[in-house]
Amino acid sequence: MLMNMKELLEVAKENKFAVGAFNICDNLLFNCVMEAAEANNAPVIVELAPPEFDYVGEDFFTMVTSRMSKSKVPCVLHLDHGKTVDDCVKAIRCGFTSVMIDGSELSYEDNVEISRKVAELAACVNVSVEGEIGTIGAMSDSVEGGVENIEYTQPEQVIDFINRTNVDTLAIAIGTAHGIYPEGFVPKLRLDILKEVEKLKVRPLVLHGGSANKDEEIQEACKHGICKVNIASDYRKAFFCGVTKTLVEENPFWTPDVFAYATQEAKKVITHKMQLFNSIGKADLYKK
Ligand SMILES: [Zn+2]
Repeated sequence: MLMNMKELLEVAKENKFAVGAFNICDNLLFNCVMEAAEANNAPVIVELAPPEFDYVGEDFFTMVTSRMSKSKVPCVLHLDHGKTVDDCVKAIRCGFTSVMIDGSELSYEDNVEISRKVAELAACVNVSVEGEIGTIGAMSDSVEGGVENIEYTQPEQVIDFINRTNVDTLAIAIGTAHGIYPEGFVPKLRLDILKEVEKLKVRPLVLHGGSANKDEEIQEACKHGICKVNIASDYRKAFFCGVTKTLVEENPFWTPDVFAYATQEAKKVITHKMQLFNSIGKADLYKK
């Protein structure tokens, strides 16, 4: 059941749960995400940032959109961190039902301008748009980008940004970073900022860089207006550590044998995240 983000997150916002958005860059990871979502009867978002999009190539999405349309769970195909109008148009042409335009590294006025433009264009074809104010941090292993010094979202800018751009969902910066944190680094979410933004009751909110934060903090964030949490590193790390273990210990040379254990490990992490987001079993809420 492929739908746009507005339709998907309206239900999440109403019922106070969040939907996991998992970055993929091949069909093995794609299958992990879809199979875990279906096994848990959970709504799900499959997303790719521009480097991931370029890596898989446009033809890949013929298979992806067909598989997602036929799935029993509600799902969204989303462009993560589109930087230009071109990025967004390319994704829409490939069947994406939602795009992010990330103008967070531009000046505030330029961010408003590009976000407004994409929202206007996407609305013509019923595609949802995610905007961002404030900046997400970046660890060295991240392909989603980000900055060295996080700029927290200013709650007073939120209403102005929504009114002027009309984006459907909003990514806010409350102290997370993309990638895996270095050992000993303890990220601390500014839940106070989130609570301020939640009070404005504007749009479903999005948390980026959701890997490696404390489970309790993520759970708490999902109770306060976060309706979408982006996860890349955590489950991919489980997958590739699984592949390494299999190759070292068993030295298989048939594809299903190489990836069977890794798939299981990745699905365990995805399921754990879905538990934190409280999205397990929630696919039933979309049946009208
Ligand atoms: Zn991100």
